[in-house]
Amino acid sequence: MRAVKAVQQHYTPGPEILQMLEQFRQMLNDCVRIGLAENVTSLKSLSMKAYNQLATYDAMSYYKLCAISKATGILGNYRKASRKNPEIKEPYAQRPQLITCYGFKIKTKEEALLLPFKPKQPLSIPLNAHVLRVLLEPNIEIRSVTLTEEQLSISYAKEVEPIQPRGLIAIDRNLNNLTIADSDGQMKKQNLAKATEIKAMYREIRSHMRRNDTRIRQHVTGKYGRKEREKVRQILHHASKQIVMHAKEKKFGVVMENLTGIRKLYGKGNGQGRTYRGRMNSWSYAELQRQIEYKARWEGIPVIYVNPYGTSVKCSICGSRMKPEENRTLKCHSCGFAVDRDVNAARNILARGMRFVPIASASEAMVAVQRRPVDADELT
Ligand SMILES: [Zn+2]
Repeated sequence: MRAVKAVQQHYTPGPEILQMLEQFRQMLNDCVRIGLAENVTSLKSLSMKAYNQLATYDAMSYYKLCAISKATGILGNYRKASRKNPEIKEPYAQRPQLITCYGFKIKTKEEALLLPFKPKQPLSIPLNAHVLRVLLEPNIEIRSVTLTEEQLSISYAKEVEPIQPRGLIAIDRNLNNLTIADSDGQMKKQNLAKATEIKAMYREIRSHMRRNDTRIRQHVTGKYGRKEREKVRQILHHASKQIVMHAKEKKFGVVMENLTGIRKLYGKGNGQGRTYRGRMNSWSYAELQRQIEYKARWEGIPVIYVNPYGTSVKCSICGSRMKPEENRTLKCHSCGFAVDRDVNAARNILARGMRFVPIASASEAMVAVQRRPVDADELT
């Protein structure tokens, strides 16, 4: 199994690099435009259509090839998304950026990244101690470098031996917490209220911006959006690290809800429109899953996704529909089980995950699964 990770640091780009970022952004947008106009999606056909048209750019061919390859990825995602939502906007890169898989060098002794600029005249960017230490990990292969105006990110990969899980750890995400239930019967809650507070704070800042100039407003909200994401991302890093450590110690796989599960996070009554609420929540949920997934893969831990349908209302003992009681608890009128709603959801997710993993264990989860009828699309 191939696992991929990335390490980031801040840096200050000089004028040459800033120019390269802007040039790459333009090449990328050109490739996307050509891909859309010519209706091509494969790397090969986009290369045939776009490479010659990039001749007007005074850029090294490394970057042209990478712009084409990145555009292929963007076009693929766009095709997929537009099948679900035909109204979706055509992709367009707003921010200067540069991605390269070729030509760069990491010089550990010189503590620098050498970026191709002109033949035999690379640009050098100093790397910090943290990045250098990470890149010294044995058996890794460095894959690509991504630069923005503030940050550089280096992605690396290794082959890992997948572990044979002896159980699972299930994760249920709510607006303010994460609830974990594992095959050993352990339950745990992690408070994520801090992330919600940060979102509320930035929402407040944005609501005070009354500038009429749309471009300024977009610029400013874009800036706050990035800062907000960075802060929430840090909180999620802490949570995802703990979950993966827990799974590693117990030799457990991880099971989470398929992304459509964010529907139930759309809580009412916190003053924003439905679309906005959904977008923020779904972003942080997707980000959490992304972090857990890549960290787990790095340790050879399998990650399973299950259908979220009904996990928040079905009894995790008998499968009947439960009734809400006070203090976020649920009660089952068929079997009498009363439980915290998040714990119930996590137990249901665990039970669904257990069907994917051949583990010999007589846990409650297994019993609950066998009694419960299977939802038609659950196994997709
Ligand atoms: Zn019940």
